[in-house]
Amino acid sequence: MPSKRRNNGRSKKNKGHSNVINCANCGRIYPKDKAIKRFQARNLVDGSSRRDIKENFAYDQADFNMPKIYVKTQYCVSCAIHSRTVRVRSVVSRKTRYTTKLRNVKRDEAKSGSAAIPLFKLLGRPQQQHGQAGAAGAAGAAGAAGAAGSH
Ligand SMILES: [Zn+2]
Repeated sequence: MPSKRRNNGRSKKNKGHSNVINCANCGRIYPKDKAIKRFQARNLVDGSSRRDIKENFAYDQADFNMPKIYVKTQYCVSCAIHSRTVRVRSVVSRKTRYTTKLRNVKRDEAKSGSAAIPLFKLLGRPQQQHGQAGAAGAAGAAGAAGAAGSH
């Protein structure tokens, strides 16, 4: 039977049952791995109020910190769609997977334990010099080939 999503909209790897949560909006009992989770860190007061408080702050301005509100909200899919937290995606764009931003960091050192660092980085030379040398070498080779052809 064809499946709409590879993971059937869940992240319940190989376990038979996952814990349930209550939807923050409608209170429906919902599987935790299927719920749409958003972690919000909001400012306690808005910008203009914050400025007023900061101006009347008795201590050094560098020490000024306002507390934030940290809320983790978990919605059922119905409420997440309704509140436009997530949207319906086309068949093709459904394949796009969202992982953490950490995984988008492409460090050469991280690939194979620093074995994949290019040589120009180790030597501290810019890569452009290498390219120019290659072009000069190619021109030289072409010149040599031309000279060989003329003889
Ligand atoms: Zn709900």
